[in-house]
Amino acid sequence: MKDAAPAQPEGLAGSLYWLIRLRWFAVAGIFFTALFADRVLQVRLAYAPLYSIAAALGVYNFLSLLYLNRAKAAARPDLPDVMNRLANAQIPMDLLSLTALAHFSGGVENPFIYYFVFHMIIASILLSRRDCYLQATAAILLFLLLAGMEYSGLWAHYCVASSAAGCRRADILYLLGASAAFASTLYIAVYMGTSTALKLRGKEAGLRGAYLLLKEKDRIKSNYVLRVTHDVKEHLAAIQACLDPVLHGLTGGLTPGQESLIRRSYERTEKLTFFVKALLEITRIKLSRKMETGPFSLRKTAENAVNFVEERARRKNIKLTSSVMPGVDIVTGAQIYIEETVANFLANSIKYTPEGGSVELTIGDAGASVLIRVKDTGMGIPKDELPHIFEEFYRARNAKATERTGTGLGLSIAKEVAEKHNGRIWVESEEGKGSAFYFSLPKAAPAPALL
Ligand code: ADP
Repeated sequence: MKDAAPAQPEGLAGSLYWLIRLRWFAVAGIFFTALFADRVLQVRLAYAPLYSIAAALGVYNFLSLLYLNRAKAAARPDLPDVMNRLANAQIPMDLLSLTALAHFSGGVENPFIYYFVFHMIIASILLSRRDCYLQATAAILLFLLLAGMEYSGLWAHYCVASSAAGCRRADILYLLGASAAFASTLYIAVYMGTSTALKLRGKEAGLRGAYLLLKEKDRIKSNYVLRVTHDVKEHLAAIQACLDPVLHGLTGGLTPGQESLIRRSYERTEKLTFFVKALLEITRIKLSRKMETGPFSLRKTAENAVNFVEERARRKNIKLTSSVMPGVDIVTGAQIYIEETVANFLANSIKYTPEGGSVELTIGDAGASVLIRVKDTGMGIPKDELPHIFEEFYRARNAKATERTGTGLGLSIAKEVAEKHNGRIWVESEEGKGSAFYFSLPKAAPAPALL
């Protein structure tokens, strides 16, 4: 028989919290059921012990919660073991509580005795198959102990039958049948539960493996792109270096036809260089585990970005304004990349806004982060294309129709930058009316794992 491995640590923590939540319901359930049986049904049971068990269950549930929270917060290196121990200890505690509850409310005659099955299902989710069978055996032994002690009269029997004659605590045939039914139900439940859990865990492991493989393949592909683009960039620089003196007449005069051809070659090389540089940049960011970060002035950064595009706005007669909320200034991050992102938003807005329009940069305080917004009165983005706008090489059809030049890489670089900073990037746009691009940047340094 194949042994089902216990749940993964992250899954186990979630399942333990879930078990704790379920136990709160159990505590409330016991309390209200006892109250109902006492006040409404007027069944004569030992209510004081029943309420005490509910209270004890509540206290130990609270302590389990505290213990789990502390172990998680302290990020103990043996956390998986701690959680596994907690799961293995909690279930027997529940079994003991259930046995005690059963004892004070009818013993093995209590129809709720089958609630033990729920624990077998919970154990199948949390524990290994071996541990589940151990828990089932413990539950069966507790059942037999209860039946035996009440049968022999060593423990009192709290009868739930409407008449004393209906009480079956001394009916040996009933007790044997009930024990066999109870034991087989529990073992079958464990078998079914662990078989299902085993299949699901197998599938989960397969998916995790496929995800890691894909990530690795993506990394290999990015490395390849990095090498190729790097080489292409060098060759392009060499071609430009050769074309430049020819274009400027240093190698002798050119006929108008020759000059036009050389100029077009030069411009095409320039565009290609721009594209290759963008590709190189996004690949580098994707591959980089570390980005240089530090405190910097966002005010100054915004000013630089505005200066960078000012001339373009002037040429198109676009009104370019910027405002930074008082109090917003120093943030921590990769300054160069943030400046480039803001400049890219502004350059796009100017590029996709017709003459005479307006582009506005605002930076506001949003508590733990700053909100950068670039709003324009440009062509906007078709609604059905909005979900793709941050994808690599994606260009909307209206942009392609009016602006032939463009790489479709600027926004994907911006998205990578936002992710590396633990920030968020998004757009609101209406075709024909304009767009607003947002970048929410945490003020504090991002978690080291992300940089
Ligand atoms: P591109 O080089 O094409 O501008 P980007 O990645 O910067 O590449 O932008 C991707 C696409 O997003 C653009 O091609 C365009 O369709 C759309 N876009 C970006 N900014 C704007 C804007 N301000 N107004 C309208 N469309 C925009």
